[in-house]
Amino acid sequence: MAGNFRKCMMLCCSRKVSQKEEDDMANDSYEEAIAGLSKLLSEKANLGSVAAAKIKQITAELEAASTAAFSPEERMKTGFIHFKTEKYEKDPNLYGALAKGQSPKFMVFACSDSRVCPSHILNFQPGEAFVVRNIANMVPPYEKTMYSGVGAAIEYAVLHLKVENIVVIGHSCCGGIKGLMSIPDDGTTASEFIENWVQICSIAKTKVKTDYSSLSFEEQCLNCEKATVNVSLENLLTYPFVREGLLKKTLALKGAHYDFVKGTFELWNLDFKVTPAVAL
Ligand SMILES: [Zn+2]
Repeated sequence: MAGNFRKCMMLCCSRKVSQKEEDDMANDSYEEAIAGLSKLLSEKANLGSVAAAKIKQITAELEAASTAAFSPEERMKTGFIHFKTEKYEKDPNLYGALAKGQSPKFMVFACSDSRVCPSHILNFQPGEAFVVRNIANMVPPYEKTMYSGVGAAIEYAVLHLKVENIVVIGHSCCGGIKGLMSIPDDGTTASEFIENWVQICSIAKTKVKTDYSSLSFEEQCLNCEKATVNVSLENLLTYPFVREGLLKKTLALKGAHYDFVKGTFELWNLDFKVTPAVAL
């Protein structure tokens, strides 16, 4: 034991101990400990039952340690340290500029689904995208009391940040869309909020059920994921400042669909045409 301790001290003082050396030392100590225990028990057999009880206790402790509960604090701490050392501290120009303000070119609507983070799939860097995430990436129509949270975000993005693009991104296997497509025709709902929320795009459900009646439920859902994006784009037109931005051509609306099963991303534009006024 003492020999190992000295070896360890020497290594620690002279250079960083490699993982293999650490493992070897741990194995040496373990074997030494077992050998010591065997020697003791062979000399004092009456300690056998005490040793058995202690070993059981250690086994239980090791089992508990090996299946240690997930620590959310530890996960977030590790994540932030990684971000700070690998990104924040390596790009002082970017983070210095962002400390003064933001000027994102994109406003993005994406689903809350943990698999579809727009910064991840489109590699948006901090400062590039002003993001709203909700169930099934829906944009409700202009409505001051029911949907003020979404309205405030659009108003801020368009009037204050002056984003140049609003993108609504749907995605594959969307639980919110499945929920919308599963609402029975009599409109009975079972959830507190979810079904009421996704019915913002119920017109898309009706269209898909009519146009694609011969398709399977899964295929209908896929079509509905795209159709609801278009309903959201149409709903964006109900916001006066969005309409104004489109007319002035300072703003563009885009629809998208990310399929994480196939690994594809589709992007389309909303055709917005202004017909000349007709004097009657
Ligand atoms: Zn979703």
